[in-house]
Amino acid sequence: MTAEVIVDIAHSEVDKIFEYRAVDGVEEGSRVRVPFGRQTVDGYVMRLKERSEYGDDRLKSIQSVIDRALTRETLALARRISERYRCPMALTLRLFLPSEMRRGEVREAFINVAVPGDPDFVPSSRAKAQAAALDYVRESGRAPYTALCERFGASAVRALVEKGALRVEQEKVNRSPLAGAPASGQARQLTPAQERAVESISRSDKTVQLLHGVTGSGKTEIYLTLIARTLQEGKSALFLVPEISLTPQMLLQLRARFGSAAAILHSGLSAGEKFDEWHRLRTGEAKIAIGARSAVFAPVEKLGVIILDEEHDGSYSSETNPRYDTGEIAKWRAEYNGCKLILGSATPSVESYLKATEGEYNLVELPERINQNPLPEMIVADMRREVRRGNNTPFSAALREELESCLQSGNQAILFLNRRGFAQSVVCRDCGHVVKCEQCDVSLTYHSEENCLKCHFCGASYHMLSACPECGGVHLSYTGTGTQKVVGELKKLFPAARILRMDVDTTGGKEGHYKILKKFADREADILVGTQMIAKGHDFPSVTLVGILDADMSLHFSDYRSGERTFQLVTQVSGRSGRAKEKGKVVLQTYDPDNYILRFAMDYDYKGFFRHEIGMRKATSFPPFARIVRVMVTAEEEGKALDVLKPVWFSLQELYAQNREKFLFFNKMKSPVKRIQNRYRYQVLMRLTDDTLLPQIYERALREKTRDVLVYVEENPANLS
Ligand code: ADP
Ligand code: ZN
Repeated sequence: MTAEVIVDIAHSEVDKIFEYRAVDGVEEGSRVRVPFGRQTVDGYVMRLKERSEYGDDRLKSIQSVIDRALTRETLALARRISERYRCPMALTLRLFLPSEMRRGEVREAFINVAVPGDPDFVPSSRAKAQAAALDYVRESGRAPYTALCERFGASAVRALVEKGALRVEQEKVNRSPLAGAPASGQARQLTPAQERAVESISRSDKTVQLLHGVTGSGKTEIYLTLIARTLQEGKSALFLVPEISLTPQMLLQLRARFGSAAAILHSGLSAGEKFDEWHRLRTGEAKIAIGARSAVFAPVEKLGVIILDEEHDGSYSSETNPRYDTGEIAKWRAEYNGCKLILGSATPSVESYLKATEGEYNLVELPERINQNPLPEMIVADMRREVRRGNNTPFSAALREELESCLQSGNQAILFLNRRGFAQSVVCRDCGHVVKCEQCDVSLTYHSEENCLKCHFCGASYHMLSACPECGGVHLSYTGTGTQKVVGELKKLFPAARILRMDVDTTGGKEGHYKILKKFADREADILVGTQMIAKGHDFPSVTLVGILDADMSLHFSDYRSGERTFQLVTQVSGRSGRAKEKGKVVLQTYDPDNYILRFAMDYDYKGFFRHEIGMRKATSFPPFARIVRVMVTAEEEGKALDVLKPVWFSLQELYAQNREKFLFFNKMKSPVKRIQNRYRYQVLMRLTDDTLLPQIYERALREKTRDVLVYVEENPANLS
C-alpha cells in the first residue's frame, strides 16, 4: 500500500502530497513519523491507495505510527478549508490538534496505585504499619501510591510491595477543567413556547435553524433539550459560544445534565487538560464538545446537532491565518453529518436574519421572556444635559439614583463600558501631542493600578510620563473614561458597596473569568463593572439594574456595521437585567438620545431595526448585498511592504479591468492604523457584487508574499483598523 502524506512543515514549497510505503497499522488519518530529506518529521496520512504511479519500491517507508489523530471528517474538512482559504494543508491540519500535542510536549498522565497482591500473605505481628496499610488496600480495593505512603509510611508500603502483598499498577488520570466546581441545574419542564421551538426545529428539513429569542427567553434550555435527544440517538453534539468567559457556566450546566459526557476545549486550559479533553472527545468517551471559536474543529464523530450561540458575535471570525468564519465551517460540518446547525441569538446578524426571512434558514422565534417576565424598563440619560449641569463624573443623576435604590434593596447591578484601563489617552495640554505606542500607530491607555501606559494593540507597557515627550510641558490631561476610573469613582460615591471589575486586565490566569463570575454569582459583590465580556450570555438572577455608560461609543467607528453592533451591544447588555422574579431597569447614557439605532434598541424593536438596516445596506450596496474584501500587506520595513503592494495591486487591477461590473469599489491605501507591532500596513480594499472572484483574489494576492512581507485576505472583516 502507498500512503499519501502531508508533512508537518508549514512552508509553501512543501505544501503538497508526498508518497510513502505504508507499514502495518497505517490508516487514513494516522499521524506518522516519516523520513524527509535528512531529517525525520511528523506527517498525516491523507489517503491510502493500492500503488504509486512511481512504483512502490522507489518509495521510502513510513517509519512509525504515532496515533490516529484525524477522523475521516477532519480530512474532508481540512481539504475544504485549505482550498477555500488558500491555506497550506500542513497549517490547516494544525487547527485540528492541540499545539502542545503536536509538538509532543504533553502525554497522557498516569499515577501509581497500589492493589492487593498475594492473598495468602500475612504480615508479621511486629509490623503494625504494614498490617494497617495492607488492610486498608484490601478493603478499598485500590489506593493511590503516594497517598498510601503518606498515611502509613513509605517503608511499610515498599516492604509490602517487595514481599508481593501489594502490586503497583498505573492508572490513567483525566486532567479535568473545573473539576472541583459544583455543577448545578436540573432539566426543566419546557414552556409551551420552548416546546413549539423544539418542535419547529425537529420538523424542519432545513440544515440551518435561526433561533431568534429575546434575552431571557430560555434558549439555553432548548439547546439542552436538543443535545439530550442527540445523545439518545447515540450521536454527539458541538456547542459553540463566542467567548472563553462563557464556557465555564455552560460546561457546568452541561455537566449537571450529562455528567462526564461533556468536554471543553479552549486556549485557556492547561496543556494536560487540553490533551485529556481532546482525547476523551476523539475516543468518543465524551460526546459533547463545548468551547469558543476553535472548538469548531473538535474531533467528535457522528454529530447530531451543532449549536452556535450568540451567532451575531464578531469573535466567530478568526483573525489569524486561516481567517475562517466559524459559522461557515459549522455549516459544512452539519452538511457532512446530515445534522442541524442551530444559530441562536437575541440580536441575529442582519445577514442571518435576511436568509431566514428569505427561507434559506428556518426561522424560530421566541418573542417573550420566560414566564412572561417583562423586558427591563429603559431610562435614557441625556449626557449633554449632565455636562451642562456641571456633572463630569461618568454617572448621570438617574444612574446614581437607580444605583442607590438597587443597592438598598439588596440587589445587584452591572455597569458596562467597553473600554478598559483608566483613561483612553494622554494628551499634552500645551502642544496637543497625543502619547502613542512606539510600535503601533495608536494612542496609549493609562492604567492607574500599575501606573503605566499600555498599548491595547500590541500589549506593550511604558512608564508613566511626567512631561510631554514633544514639548516638555507638564500639563498632561487624561481623556476618555475606562473601567478602572469608573471603579474609582464608584468607590467615592458608594464607599460601602463591594465592586468587581471584569476586563482583560483582571481575567488573566487560569480560570480567571470563572473566578470573577462565580464571586458575583455568589453575591460576594454588589456591582460588576466590565467590558463587552460581561455583555452577553450571563444569567444572574439578582441583577435588577444595568447601566450602559457610553452607549454611543461603538456608533462612532467608521464601519458599515457600527449601527448593527451598537444595537446588539445595547440589547445584549440590557438583557442582563431583571431575568428572574424582580423587574429590571436599564439606564442608557448617551450624547445622542435621538439616534435611530438607540431608539430601536430602547424599544426592543429588532424587526424595526432590521428593516431599517437592511434597507440602508441595500441602498448603499454593503454586505449582505455585497462582499468587502481587504488584501493586507504588512512588513517591518515600509519599503518592503510597498515593494510587494505594487505587484499585488497590478495583479488585482488586471482582474478589476476584466470584471469591472463586479466591482463596486476598488482602491489601495495605507490602513487606518498605519503600523501595528512594528509592521507597516498597506491594503487594497474592494467591494464586490458577489463571491465569484474570491478564489482569484486569494490566488493573485497570496502568491506575492515573501519571507519578510505578509500578505493576507480578509472577507467582510470584523475590524477595519
Ligand atoms: P436566554 O439564553 O434566552 O437569554 P436563558 O436560557 O438563560 O435565556 O433562560 C433565562 C432564565 O429562564 C434562566 O434563569 C433559566 O434558568 C430560566 N428558564 C429557562 N427555561 C425555563 C423553564 N422551562 N422553566 C423555568 N425557568 C426557565
Ligand atoms: Zn503597540
